[in-house]
Amino acid sequence: MTALPDLSQSVFSHEEIVALLSVVDPQDVEAVRAAAEKVLLKECGNGVYLRGLIEASNVCRCDCHYCGIRKSNTKVRHYTLAQNDILLLAQQAANLGYGSIVIQTGERQNKTFLDALEKTIQLIKTETVSDALPQGIGITLCIGEQTEETYRRLFKAGAHRYLLRIETTNPVLFSRIHPADQHFETRVHCLQRLKKIGYQVGTGVMIGLPGQTIEDLANDILFFKEQDIDMIGMGPFIPHPDTPLGGVACPDEATRLHLGHMMIAATRLVLRDVNIAATTALQALDPAGRERAFRFGANVMMPLMTPGEAREDYNLYPGKPNLKETNNDYQVSFSAFLNEIGRTLGQNQWGDAPHASRGGGNSPPFSS
Ligand code: SAH
Repeated sequence: MTALPDLSQSVFSHEEIVALLSVVDPQDVEAVRAAAEKVLLKECGNGVYLRGLIEASNVCRCDCHYCGIRKSNTKVRHYTLAQNDILLLAQQAANLGYGSIVIQTGERQNKTFLDALEKTIQLIKTETVSDALPQGIGITLCIGEQTEETYRRLFKAGAHRYLLRIETTNPVLFSRIHPADQHFETRVHCLQRLKKIGYQVGTGVMIGLPGQTIEDLANDILFFKEQDIDMIGMGPFIPHPDTPLGGVACPDEATRLHLGHMMIAATRLVLRDVNIAATTALQALDPAGRERAFRFGANVMMPLMTPGEAREDYNLYPGKPNLKETNNDYQVSFSAFLNEIGRTLGQNQWGDAPHASRGGGNSPPFSS
């Protein structure tokens, strides 16, 4: 068994991160968890911020080997939400005090789609301005790899954060889980482009992929740091039966769930002042899995706002929970849960990561 590293330090080596991720003894898990919570409270405070998740379209040009909405999955019933529906959801999010929304779609690069999205973002920004949100609701985009020009247009339209998961930083594993026309380097370039334009940039990985090692996951965390990332969204890999990785052996559910929480704690200890989301995939494996993430250093919650039917069709992986997270009872009970663990619901705030305004970490500004 590896000894735990000094948990009060702020710089961790690869070997030390591997040790953090390897803990299984309940006392050690608790020590790592408590240290992550302490860093979170010191660096980011006790607020938990909400981003209403709007899955605006499940049409995708990619064929990722793990993803349920991949192009080759002929069982997918395609949809694209109308502009007006998205506007109503954004308004609902603002009324609920969310402060921010995330617009997520499959990867689409056609002009009509992107033009409409640009317009939608502009409208959301003007229509959600209120005394509570003088600059309108915060908008995060998660729409995959795009050209620099597209990223710029959408930034100018009013989006200010962008999520693009690197999925894994092991290039061999990356090429094993993606078709030959998708490249690790392209993703890295996209992340750097987004940063250069001025977005707050989020990335993340899937945890427990077939063939992925603890050493890979430790490298993932070091990559987040090197790339000066502001936000992290990561969760356990969940095999989808209608995909090529559906039947490939991977760690069991309990291991993936445990590693999901340990990745959050270790990322908090290493990156310190970033935002980390408690993702839905944690809940797909355990009804309490997402809430538990807040005790391991997560501080962002993304209530699902996608309307009824579309929700089922945005089926990245099986077992996605179908909760009515936008009703008042849910919000009251979530808020009560947070109070119980010494946290508060940050309402009517964008809830940007302190890291984003601190001018970054160790990396030099990216050149073009
Ligand atoms: N087109 C957007 C959105 C992709 S879906 C983009 O490229 O960013 C959002 C995330 O879901 C993916 O980045 C991936 O990490 C995750 N995901 C997809 N399939 C999954 C699976 N089977 N298990 C767990 N997570 C999955």
